[in-house]
Amino acid sequence: MGESSALDAMREAARLSPGNFPLRRLLADALLAAGHPTEAEAAYQAALLLAPGNPDVIIGIAESFVRQGKSGAALIALESLAAEPRPPARAGIVAAMALLGDGDIAAAADHYQHAVSEDPTLADPDLAAHVGAPDTPQTAVHTQPEDAQRVRVGGAGAQDDGPAEPIVDAQRSDVTFVDVAGMEEVKDTLRMKLLLPFQKPELFAAYGKKAGGGLLLYGPPGSGKTHLARATAGELGADFIDVGLADILDMWVGSSERNLHSIFQMARRRTPCVLFFDEVDALASRRSDMRGHSRHIINQFLAELDGVDDRANEGILVLAATNAPWYVDTAFRRPGRFGEMVFVPPPDTRARAAILEILCRGKPTTRLDLDTLAAATAGFVGADLRGVLDQAIESKLVDSIHAGYPLPLTTEDLLRVIRTVTPTAVREWLLTARNYVLHANESGVWDELLPWLRDVR
Ligand code: ADP
Repeated sequence: MGESSALDAMREAARLSPGNFPLRRLLADALLAAGHPTEAEAAYQAALLLAPGNPDVIIGIAESFVRQGKSGAALIALESLAAEPRPPARAGIVAAMALLGDGDIAAAADHYQHAVSEDPTLADPDLAAHVGAPDTPQTAVHTQPEDAQRVRVGGAGAQDDGPAEPIVDAQRSDVTFVDVAGMEEVKDTLRMKLLLPFQKPELFAAYGKKAGGGLLLYGPPGSGKTHLARATAGELGADFIDVGLADILDMWVGSSERNLHSIFQMARRRTPCVLFFDEVDALASRRSDMRGHSRHIINQFLAELDGVDDRANEGILVLAATNAPWYVDTAFRRPGRFGEMVFVPPPDTRARAAILEILCRGKPTTRLDLDTLAAATAGFVGADLRGVLDQAIESKLVDSIHAGYPLPLTTEDLLRVIRTVTPTAVREWLLTARNYVLHANESGVWDELLPWLRDVR
């Protein structure tokens, strides 16, 4: 995929999820890196509305200004960071660029040197030459070459565990496959590829196979990927470590690789466990779409998946989910990494009835006509059905408060809510998928998806 089509896809993704801050931020970073400063500025401004005062976004805005030749505007944008107790060091680099644009070389050199002494990885030989500063700080701590990241993970004595505080929670999963309605084929695949190698290691060992490794779940948003991953942990009686995109992107600048390492270290201490990465496409995107820091993350992620040795990740199931599998770098799809891709389809009529049944379990209801409800919810995914139920419960609660006792939910209550909802996510997803998949299925990776794409319009 070329750079411009990757950008188009990110623009489209941001348009579809206007409230997703990490996505907006990624889009803005990518636009800036690809040389579209005006559009990047707009994208950062949109991100700032979602996270007012976010220093990294403000720096992004300032850099977009610099790239448009608006040095004064950049300096004004950066001023809002002056009140921060510890503004990110990159602010100094962008300030240096802006000051240089303004012709204030001495001040630019000052800012540059200060920033690089705080964070040596920010050294920029080009900028250093322009401001007349040595490109590495005189008091340099130690500048890490790009590949040093891998050495730190893989080398002897690499067991530094990052920050003492855990970044993500590990929880005992309270759901199992019994709580996952429908999806029989998907569950069978997971049983064979993940659960059995864990439960019967001797048998698999006889064929030279071992437990562990990873698998990529993909499908439309809300189709139950996270739910399945959690249930997989439940089936194993293993801890579930849920790593969201925001957990990583929050740490994007600076110590993100180290934090990714400490997440894996935490998993290694908690085996057996399921380590789950949601929205993994943003972390594992094709290299050509990525610049700077993100490439470090990709390298780190690959190094962690490979582990120091064969046994490093023993007992860890690494699962990942994505709505955009076509962005995932093929390097991640090798055996031992996310070697298998499993399509989590939108639920068919029977599966919708089963999902509704599970969702209504333990709630006060009359005898529900699940077939009618399932027929009325074509195109709904699990998340939509859950939304319907939540809404119906809310209005039932209001009625119950008036009545003074809990009134049971009826089929009509649910149908009333269903009539007000038009789910569009699945159709839009299938249309997007068709664009990517039909033209790039040489090796048959998308075969599983093809039957779903034929009739969508
Ligand atoms: P995704 O990760 O694919 O975006 P989720 O796993 O977050 O979707 O699904 C959203 C919610 O929908 C889940 O929390 C769960 O309550 C419900 N759900 C989805 N699929 C199923 C299913 N097959 N059985 C029961 N509940 C489901």
